[in-house]
Amino acid sequence: MTDKRYQSWGRYPAAEHEALKLYWRDDPLPIDAIGKRSFLPFGNGRSYGDVCLNDGGTLLDCRELNRFIHFDPSTGVLRCEAGVLLSEILQLIVPAGWFLPVTPGTQFVTVGGAIANDVHGKNHHRAGTFGCHVRCLELLRSDGTRMQCSLDENTEYFNATIGGLGLTGVITWAEIGLQHINNPYIDQEIIRYRNLGEFFTLARESDKICEYTVAWIDCLAKGDHLGRGLFIRGNHAQHIKGKLPKVPTGRMTFPIDPPFALSNGLTLKMFNTLYYRKQWSERKAGLVYYEPFFYPLDAVSGWNRVYGSKGFFQYQCAVPADKAEDAIREILERIASTGVGSFLAVLKLFGDRLSPGLLSFPMPGATLALDFPNNGEKTLRLMDQLDEVTREAGGRVNPSKDSRMHPKDFQQHYQNWKGMEAFMDPCISSDFWRRVTAQS
Ligand SMILES: Cc1cc2nc3c(=O)[nH]c(=O)nc-3n(C[C@H](O)[C@H](O)[C@H](O)COP(=O)(O)OP(=O)(O)OC[C@H]3O[C@@H](n4cnc5c(N)ncnc54)[C@H](O)[C@@H]3O)c2cc1C
Repeated sequence: MTDKRYQSWGRYPAAEHEALKLYWRDDPLPIDAIGKRSFLPFGNGRSYGDVCLNDGGTLLDCRELNRFIHFDPSTGVLRCEAGVLLSEILQLIVPAGWFLPVTPGTQFVTVGGAIANDVHGKNHHRAGTFGCHVRCLELLRSDGTRMQCSLDENTEYFNATIGGLGLTGVITWAEIGLQHINNPYIDQEIIRYRNLGEFFTLARESDKICEYTVAWIDCLAKGDHLGRGLFIRGNHAQHIKGKLPKVPTGRMTFPIDPPFALSNGLTLKMFNTLYYRKQWSERKAGLVYYEPFFYPLDAVSGWNRVYGSKGFFQYQCAVPADKAEDAIREILERIASTGVGSFLAVLKLFGDRLSPGLLSFPMPGATLALDFPNNGEKTLRLMDQLDEVTREAGGRVNPSKDSRMHPKDFQQHYQNWKGMEAFMDPCISSDFWRRVTAQS
């Protein structure tokens, strides 16, 4: 039986695990209980694909490592256990005038997961990845060794653990540098733009003046409208006055678990067109509370079930700056011509701040992320076609979203992968790693 607590967000592939929980950061790893099987640390299962799965092995659930260790509100330095969720950190730090230095599009990820996938957010062009803000961490290895790792101490293990996909050991705690804010609001502007060329112009201009930038694109639009969408940009508000927007309370839950995907050609077309037209004016500006700005998808818990029991894929690629416009155009043309659209298609420019992580995904250029319902071979073929474009542009696919990348692509895109092996814990393995390092 597949234990549904230990699925990935895309609900594909299915995997069966023994699960063990880690309760105390000072306890040794339960190596005797794990026995001869391999194990893998597990955070909150918000990875889309198989980096958090270890079929036939053990998952070491780290969510109970959920304690704060130290927070200094005068310096904004926070030390906490690795199973603490970003949402829990925000509850502590926002009232004290601090914010996460980098956050992904959901707040329901653990600190350990954010480090192991070296996640990025809407401010990559300014702040780089989450790993750029980790001051130090503790790594617990299966032989009982504990290592404090930072840019000055056990540096090679530090670099291998940032974006290390959980393979170097269990992160028990980490210390992060936060960013100061004056209040919990964002000065947001949403701009409707007409095509891909406009996106690139707007993104380059906006990255100079805004900390956060991202675009939602209508991936079914073709011809002169190819790449059209809504460009969303913002900064932490300096001052607030007047009537403030509502702070959202409560969350909706996606009500059913349908056996098949509720997205089809018609619903996608309607959603994409209506979303593009959701505001009357070309530009809309105002204050917004930080949660709807950073985490619009968190408003509906369990939204991944809209794709039915076969699950879905997220395809996220990054392509270098000099090839970005042509490559993204080609990818969008290929998608639009198949009519296999995505509710959520997100486009953003990455900046050039490099992460210490050996296997980090971002590269200076552009990144595009799209969700596709799992329609078997047809979907896999489409993503193979998208791989061709990514490969030719010298880009790469994001491991934390992936469950189907071919080994030769991984090995070509992540040239440091062999170097990673020296730092891997011999008792740890994952579905992802076995798949992408298989001889092809
Ligand atoms: C709605 C949504 C939006 C998202 N938006 C973004 C985005 O904008 N940018 C982005 O980069 N990602 C994004 N993601 C992906 C998500 O941020 C990452 O996959 C994240 O790493 C998941 O963290 P988790 O705690 O759920 O970890 P899991 O998914 O459970 O595990 C992720 C990896 O971390 C390892 N790991 C977990 N805990 C530990 C530990 N204590 N020690 C060592 N290794 C550990 C696991 O072995 C695994 O390899 C999004 C996901 C969702 C569902």
